[in-house]
Amino acid sequence: MFAKRLENLHPYVPGEQPKDRDYIKLNANENPFPPHESVAAAIKTAVTEKIEKLGLYPDPDSTELRKAIADMLNETGGVLNTAKVSGNKCSPSEENKIPFSVTPDMIFCGNGSDEVLSFVFYTFFDSDRPLVLPEFTYSFYPVYCGYYNIPMNPIKLRKDWTLDTEKMLSEANKTDSCTIFANPNAPTGIEIKREDVAAMIRRAPKDRIFIVDEAYADFGKESCIPLLKEFDNLVIVRTFSKSLSFAGMRLGYVVSSPALIKSIFTVKNSFNHFPVDFLAQTAGTASCKAAAYYAKNAAAIVQERDKFSAFLRKNGWFVIDSRTNFVFAKKDGHSGEEIYETVKKAGILIRHFATKGIEDFVRITIGTPEQMKKLSEVLGTL
Ligand SMILES: *Cc1c(COP(=O)(O)O)cnc(C)c1O
Repeated sequence: MFAKRLENLHPYVPGEQPKDRDYIKLNANENPFPPHESVAAAIKTAVTEKIEKLGLYPDPDSTELRKAIADMLNETGGVLNTAKVSGNKCSPSEENKIPFSVTPDMIFCGNGSDEVLSFVFYTFFDSDRPLVLPEFTYSFYPVYCGYYNIPMNPIKLRKDWTLDTEKMLSEANKTDSCTIFANPNAPTGIEIKREDVAAMIRRAPKDRIFIVDEAYADFGKESCIPLLKEFDNLVIVRTFSKSLSFAGMRLGYVVSSPALIKSIFTVKNSFNHFPVDFLAQTAGTASCKAAAYYAKNAAAIVQERDKFSAFLRKNGWFVIDSRTNFVFAKKDGHSGEEIYETVKKAGILIRHFATKGIEDFVRITIGTPEQMKKLSEVLGTL
């Protein structure tokens, strides 16, 4: 009754979205701050003065949105928490200035970065050689490997949980493979330096694709976008979901060389001509223009994250140094599941993974100071 390929599917399991009780949700790395008021205003205008637009197909190329994204990246350096804010204007910090101008032909938009990743997998990875990826990373990558029948070569993390870039490169070079990883990585939260990413790409053939998923780069120290000056084989995937408070609207994008962007468009236009609807384009464009607001929020989240990490360490926890909007931590004598259950009884959701090797850890999204205070009270009793 079913196609054979269905057997290869092992669907992604997202953080739970319970409906039985009003939990404090610290389990899906969503942003605790609401979208900027100008985003609400843009949506209101769209559904009143421009309501007829809902009956028409949206711009298939997301022209205005891609320009707004390019502008935002130039103004923030792609690292919101480090951007300098003055009034409602942003400028990049010294170390995050992009040494060229990001242009709209370097941007591709899709319906969430999960969909964008799907297009990227389809565009660049073949089933005749294994994709190199870290052993622990975003768990959607193995799901897409099943979907597209791409073999995998998972590379163990180093003892300190960092990516083993040397091993990833040597394995990729052995099999002429492409490489994907998240930076900062998930669920560890560790960021590797832009220079370390450059060193890896520099020693690979120029036609070999490297995908860097920067879902959390706005909470980190650096983005790899400046490396696009040197490398045409680098593909950077980013999302509006985390740093731009947009998880419910679904918007993700790629930053890469115009030639690669063009090939992703070919895939998109062979699957769904209109992945980004009119409202998402409208609200997304408004979000980019409010970058200063989101930069302040990202900085507040980073501050709260570091405060919370210090609190856990003082209470005897092992906490990995996070450059994201979550922390990955464990406490001796407690399993991840036990901690998750204890916290859930108190009305707070966090995440734990049954995966062997990380089963003792919990992943906790950074919420508002009030939410973190409540959680700290519960965790303090462990
Ligand atoms: C959250 C996340 C995504 C998915 O983001 P969406 O745009 O909401 O689909 C992609 N990659 C990583 C590493 C993430 O954590």
